[in-house]
Amino acid sequence: MKKLVFLLFIICQIKTGFSQAPASWTSADMYQALNKLKVLGSVLYIAAHPDDENTRLITYLSKDKLFRTGYLSVTRGDGGQNLIGDEQGIELGMIRTQELLAARRTDGGEQFFTRAFDFGYSKTPEETFAKWDKEKILSDMVWVIRKFQPDVIINRFPVTGEGGHGHHTASGILANEAFTAAADPNRFPEQLKYVTVWQAKRLLWNTFNFGGTNTTREDQLKIDVGGYNPLLGKSYGEIAAESRSQHKSQGFGVPATRGESLEYFKATKGNQPTADLMEGVDLSWNRVQGGEPIAKKIDSLIAAFDLLHPEKSVEGLVRLYKSISLLNDSYWKGQKLREVNMLIAQCSGLFMDVTTAEQFAVQTDSIKLNFSFNNRLGTDALLQKVTVDNFDTAFSRLLERNKNLNFSKTFFVPASKNITQPYWLEQKKEEGYYNVADQRSVGKPDVDAAYQAIIQVKVYGELLTFVRSVKYKFTDPVKGELYQPLVVIPPVIVSPSGDNKIIVNTKDGVSGLIVMRGMKKGFKGRVTAVSSTGSKLLNEFSFSNNQIDIDTRNQINDITYKGVVENKNSEIKFNVISGANEFAAKDKHEIKYDHIPYINYFHDAEISIKNIDLKIYNKKIGYIVGAGDKVPEALEQMGYEVTLLSDKELSKNKLDKFDAIITGVRAYNTNEWMNKHYNNLMKYVNEGGNLIVQYNTSNQIGPVRAKIGPYNFAITRTRVTDENAAVTLLKPEHPVFNYPNKINADDFRGWVQERSIYHAADSSGKFEKLISMADPGEKSDDGSLIVAKYGKGYFTYTGIVFFRELPAGVPGAYRLLANIIALNKKKGF
Ligand SMILES: [Zn+2]
Repeated sequence: MKKLVFLLFIICQIKTGFSQAPASWTSADMYQALNKLKVLGSVLYIAAHPDDENTRLITYLSKDKLFRTGYLSVTRGDGGQNLIGDEQGIELGMIRTQELLAARRTDGGEQFFTRAFDFGYSKTPEETFAKWDKEKILSDMVWVIRKFQPDVIINRFPVTGEGGHGHHTASGILANEAFTAAADPNRFPEQLKYVTVWQAKRLLWNTFNFGGTNTTREDQLKIDVGGYNPLLGKSYGEIAAESRSQHKSQGFGVPATRGESLEYFKATKGNQPTADLMEGVDLSWNRVQGGEPIAKKIDSLIAAFDLLHPEKSVEGLVRLYKSISLLNDSYWKGQKLREVNMLIAQCSGLFMDVTTAEQFAVQTDSIKLNFSFNNRLGTDALLQKVTVDNFDTAFSRLLERNKNLNFSKTFFVPASKNITQPYWLEQKKEEGYYNVADQRSVGKPDVDAAYQAIIQVKVYGELLTFVRSVKYKFTDPVKGELYQPLVVIPPVIVSPSGDNKIIVNTKDGVSGLIVMRGMKKGFKGRVTAVSSTGSKLLNEFSFSNNQIDIDTRNQINDITYKGVVENKNSEIKFNVISGANEFAAKDKHEIKYDHIPYINYFHDAEISIKNIDLKIYNKKIGYIVGAGDKVPEALEQMGYEVTLLSDKELSKNKLDKFDAIITGVRAYNTNEWMNKHYNNLMKYVNEGGNLIVQYNTSNQIGPVRAKIGPYNFAITRTRVTDENAAVTLLKPEHPVFNYPNKINADDFRGWVQERSIYHAADSSGKFEKLISMADPGEKSDDGSLIVAKYGKGYFTYTGIVFFRELPAGVPGAYRLLANIIALNKKKGF
């Protein structure tokens, strides 16, 4: 039993493709994998973000050199911009996690992370370490090295700053320290009950020539990674392009490359190699005690491999499996057993699939699993046992050649079965890192599959164990047969509308809507409220119709609530009471994109009440959606009426009915039709309107120059990344700082991630520059908020990150934006 648990643990680690269709290899893939059995070498690549990795090198290492190859991305890429939707922060990190896994499925690498949170751009490693907790992230890097045991570690970024971004330099510094610490039993000794110390042979910096910085030198080790692999029918540069193009949320589609492609390496720990990365590393079976005969067995398997009949190799592979099993335990023993196990499944053509027609397994409900077997090439195979959680069935059933064996089993999902939650979201995160309770989870790329099927089959007389994740399988009329993760959920999902409830006047109390979705037929219960500021509140909280009585799955109950809150910030959570049980209500979020598996995660159903001293003037706002942001929701909570304006609405609407028009983030960069409406928008401003443009990354709409304001200004790359950077009001008497809210220093406290990005440079001299600020040690800049009077109205461009601060409930951001919206009203001035 102990062995089985160990095996499961490892398989969760390496089976990154669990949510995709079953692996299906060609004979060429099998031949490649047979050759890989002979190579006992591993390389770990380290950088800071999804997209930093050198996919061409990873492809070359995994598919040409046949090394076990990993990429350790310090962060999940939670910061930064999302080019495909409005997800930010942890959601963006989950999307980029899946994009990295998709990239690794393409280039053959494995994926790892630390707990570090990508909190956005930072200019120095000091700023980065102040948030990451350097010792924690170093510990994670050491952990991954001790588990993965790389012979050589390759660093993308130097410690000297040529990598630019503070996260980049920080990842370089950490890799150099981790190289030494991983081998030191006095460093992070608490890890040693699970892993042993590990000394890699060397740490190489993969020098680069991009962005105007050339750190390559001819005295460095130089390798051509641009070869062509006829077994794969592709050049490594072609595979790398497919891999890199998975980073769709960053818009990183790249063209395939062919021909020579040189990579340069400079040793920063260990000796400098002259001809080969792995110089001085034994890559053969000789590094394993008693391994010599294994190599000979693999040689004969390779020599005898029959492309048309890979099943002829199965008996030999089974014997090989047995021989390796008899060796003393070691890293390479475990690794190669897994490779041989995979080869046996693929060469034998054994199809083993466990699926369900439901996307969700509901706690306290039952679920039907469908088991499907086919011995497609007629291997000698006897199905012995299938185990899923507590359910197991023993057989002794010969699997006949190319005959389907299908059966189903319905079983109960107990309340004690954990909901399927990414492990890094189980606990509340800190500003700069995720909290992870179990050391053994650290480094893992993804959430574990909700259910694993353990399938025992006797192949040529040897009992082998295969593990398959249980998947949700369905057929889409357009996309065909699809596999997605199976997700364990609670019987009822509670979604308060709006994550931040902004209370302007607490005398009015708080009210709103919560949506309860019943997932289990026959569920009965009711909802209650729990406050973070004391139980007194509860008696004053009332609900309409909060009984839930579920007749059908997916039944929706709308419940309105009303209550009085104390005059301070508070959180209100909701509980569900069902019979004698009371549990914290969970809200579920789902993120769906075609290029990655569906993502589901949970958080406590709660509303966050921020008492903000906010006055607004003006009522009707037109919002031109850009790349996607949550500003319109925030505007509605402030009390405005918001109309979303697309190309069509802009054409037909009379704009003068809007007190202000606001453009969403990067609206000009993403909507090619913005220039068409320029004259109309300027007419609107001229006649007394108020146009507020949030940041764009350039003055371009594709190849065309964007017409944005009434006067010229340039959009620069200047940003202020320190969210606590000192702010100077250049014209304190200006209405922007006085009406209807009096802005003072307090309004710039408690900001998150950064102050502003993509500042303006006024090239016309017609704008008023209202704010000056700078990151520590830098020259101050006055382009974060510029305003021009034009005719009877106003035009504003701002790089201030309202799209981050409003969803985070930062009072000053609300008050400042309300004042910009009020600009074209003269009351009081
Ligand atoms: Zn990066």
